[in-house]
Amino acid sequence: MVDLDVSDFFKHKLARIKPDYVFRQSQVALSQAIEKTITQQSVLIAEAGTGTGKTWAYLVPAFMSFRKTLISTGTKALQDQLFRKDVPMLKKALGLPIQVALLKGRSNYLCHFHYNRLVNDDYTQLNSKEEVEQLKEIKLFFQKTTTGDKSDCAKVPDKAPIWLKVTSTNESCLNQDCPYINECFLAQARTKAREADVVIVNHALFFADMALRKEAQIDLLPIADTVIFDEAHQLPEIATQFLGSQIALSSIEEVVKDIELYTAMYAKRVAEWSKLCGRVTHDLMDLRLTARPIDSMPGKKAILERIPDNERLIAVLEKVVQGIDELHKTLEAVNEQHLDLKEVYNRLNAYYGRLLQWIYPEKFDQDNQDSYVRWVEYGKHQLRLYRAPLSVKNVANFKREDQAWILTSATLSVNHQFTHFQAQLGLFDAECQTWESPFQYAEKAVMYVPDHLPDVKVPHYEQDFVRLLIPFIQRTPGGVLILSTTLRSVESLGVLLQEALLREGIHKRIFRQGETAHRVLIDQFQQEKNGILIGSASFWEGVDFPGDLVTLVAIDKLPFAPPDDPVLEARIEECRKKGGNPFMDIQLPMAAIALKQGAGRLIRTEQDSGVLIIGDGRLVNQRYSKLLWGSLPNFYRTRHFDTALNFWRENR
Ligand code: SF4
Repeated sequence: MVDLDVSDFFKHKLARIKPDYVFRQSQVALSQAIEKTITQQSVLIAEAGTGTGKTWAYLVPAFMSFRKTLISTGTKALQDQLFRKDVPMLKKALGLPIQVALLKGRSNYLCHFHYNRLVNDDYTQLNSKEEVEQLKEIKLFFQKTTTGDKSDCAKVPDKAPIWLKVTSTNESCLNQDCPYINECFLAQARTKAREADVVIVNHALFFADMALRKEAQIDLLPIADTVIFDEAHQLPEIATQFLGSQIALSSIEEVVKDIELYTAMYAKRVAEWSKLCGRVTHDLMDLRLTARPIDSMPGKKAILERIPDNERLIAVLEKVVQGIDELHKTLEAVNEQHLDLKEVYNRLNAYYGRLLQWIYPEKFDQDNQDSYVRWVEYGKHQLRLYRAPLSVKNVANFKREDQAWILTSATLSVNHQFTHFQAQLGLFDAECQTWESPFQYAEKAVMYVPDHLPDVKVPHYEQDFVRLLIPFIQRTPGGVLILSTTLRSVESLGVLLQEALLREGIHKRIFRQGETAHRVLIDQFQQEKNGILIGSASFWEGVDFPGDLVTLVAIDKLPFAPPDDPVLEARIEECRKKGGNPFMDIQLPMAAIALKQGAGRLIRTEQDSGVLIIGDGRLVNQRYSKLLWGSLPNFYRTRHFDTALNFWRENR
């Protein structure tokens, strides 16, 4: 550590570079606890209420420690914000020679090999005029970028399919055989990360790295002395996703097509490629037909054990694997003849391995054969096979003895207890502490749980809920955020609300999730200033509407995760088998965290005020209710319509 006191820094230095900075003792206390954890190389689970200033509370001791630090964020947007805004400011304030690097997953970097192949292919791989225009933009970007980070190519949307053609995957990267290895943007970003003192990554990359280390493959991230996880409440879900795997049938179809193309060009006489490829393509079609019953199952997905005639499905999959095995062996003999052959061989090899792992888990998970859930999703043009761990408590084993871990977020505890979060990640010995939000919730906001709405399950519940909202929508001085639990309710609430607004002559615009891209919808809503935004899952967290952008948040139902989610379904089953109570042990804590996130959308700054309406009576009338409302900030609480409605009269 350098000879500079954390407390002095917040008291004297920060105000000089951040004119809007407000000194808070709780921020200093949090920062000191993080500093101690870094020195002791222990684990701290730090819940820091909104407004505590947790970002600077961890950045300052991390920078002052002079130890190699990984900072992992929940989203790429937060990663960029840290790197571009907070870090330069802090470096200036501290005046320390600290190297900071930004590292994202490989799909974020333009790949020289795939880019050049696409450009040299005379546009034959492009699917539309739009892609032709986008490729022109990417060409301009390629000429001037020094990092290859696609988020700097603003004219091509982040999710545009063309990015898949000019970026690499683990399977399609040629690594040391690549002719562009010396210019490779990804390789350069990784080198910078190895050399830097502080590296800013995201949770997805962190767990992708852990998964590769587990399989004793390459390391994506440097070894660090300190790891700080921001938005740590997302870790269990992201770990589940990245410590599992998925295979899209279309990826196999695509590689088989490419094999036909490149073998015709470079290894024509070696084998009957059309026959070998044709067999795999035929078996894949057969697989799709066999999986058809899943199309009529809830959510068009099913755990393997629930798929009708799953033995036949496995038999067809085995046939697919036999065909791939034959193709794989034949291709192995020629893959060194040309880079394109090598690239398709690597891809096929990876899918082959993943399929084997999916079909024969007992051969790969010898220690614990029941520890994964396998399921299949049936889409219009797509069939996907998934595999995910039933538990991610082995995440704790990724911590090295000589490492410090800090996990922070505004939503980690359930009714002031951290046991659920600790158990999820296996961090039983961690020190857990809460730093309350400095916001005056009891004076600035009211939480209203109506006493006259019917049970959420009755058919007219949504009509009654919308009717209740109308006077609040009329009176609220700013925007309205309605949080729902499913896309179906977003749709139905939107229709009911539109009718009600027309009837009452209220001129407010409704923005519904799914109308347009997430980011665009948020921008439009913000520009409108007093619109009504209706969203489900992705709007419960990570959206920030300070001031009058949102002065009314309304939640129709408690956010219990749908039990048709295959991982949740399997975890519930597993919990029951072990004699546990899945509702109390899994579903309720998850709902409490999600509710806390949703309710947290109302007050984002010290000046904010507003009303939170939760229509679902289960928040107060069930034996488990206290676990839910006890987890929420200290809002002024009422069940009386007039008290809630008069809030604005009395407070503005
Ligand atoms: S090394 Fe991999 S990511 Fe880099 S240019 Fe080559 S193929 Fe692309």
